[in-house]
Amino acid sequence: MVKNVVMQRAGQEGVISMELLRKNNNKNEPMKVHKYKQIEYLTFPLLDEVEMVRHLFSTREGGVSKGIYASMNLSYARGDDKEAIDENFRRIAEIFETTPDRIVCSKQTHTTNVRLVTEKDCGKGVLYPADYDDVDGLITNVPGILLCTSYADCVPLYFVDVKNEAIGLGHSGWRGTVCRMGEAMLKNMREAFGTKPEDVIAAIGPSICKDCYEVGEEVAEAFRKSFPEEWNCLLSEGKEPGKYQLDLWEANKKVLLGAGILSEHLAVTDLCTCCNSEYLFSHRASKGKRGNLGAFMELRKS
Ligand SMILES: [Zn+2]
Repeated sequence: MVKNVVMQRAGQEGVISMELLRKNNNKNEPMKVHKYKQIEYLTFPLLDEVEMVRHLFSTREGGVSKGIYASMNLSYARGDDKEAIDENFRRIAEIFETTPDRIVCSKQTHTTNVRLVTEKDCGKGVLYPADYDDVDGLITNVPGILLCTSYADCVPLYFVDVKNEAIGLGHSGWRGTVCRMGEAMLKNMREAFGTKPEDVIAAIGPSICKDCYEVGEEVAEAFRKSFPEEWNCLLSEGKEPGKYQLDLWEANKKVLLGAGILSEHLAVTDLCTCCNSEYLFSHRASKGKRGNLGAFMELRKS
């Protein structure tokens, strides 16, 4: 089930620094590890093929933060040194050949609220505090704006409407999954851009796997209610009595396919944040002493 694979990218020097535990939970091509200067980041081959966008998911490698935030922490809300975080965002922006004043961040509180991002939002959450709250999803059709949502076990969702040239990033933890964040993202994209699910390429990014994600009765019950036909394959008996193991990857996959995304247009991660907590920030593995990872995506300027 779990394989140790040392990743090596064609055309790049050397071997990537970390052995990653990979889950063979789907038929997709594994996420690719890339190295730019000291920064290591991940991409989905399915989204790499979509010319109109660039995207990545960050790792802990290649930033300047210290201690529990080492080294690529992308959150100003967790007590890390501001100047270090500024530099981390600058480095990520450089991968996209842009600057932090083009980044727009979410302000996540486990809602299904989605913000339509425009030019006037640029820099919010990085250069300036965001003037919005409770935003767990970002969508835009403006080229050259770099959307950013943040993670440490919760599920990142990526959306590209290839017909209307629009993108979205959504944060889907257990609460977001129960409330069907994936559907909320598509609904907002339909209202803003006329998006149809069959024109969308989507991806479910690195987050906690079923083996690592133990939940209690309250969370299990919320999933039974939200997935009355399907909860049986999302929840299994826990390693301890009264506990369950929850599959957030499969739950989000069901939401997206149920909303009309075609299975050949959906990539699902093979990387668990908790299994790889030296390489990816994990709330569970670190007992909350950690920084944040970032999902990033932009529409290219033509
Ligand atoms: Zn795991």
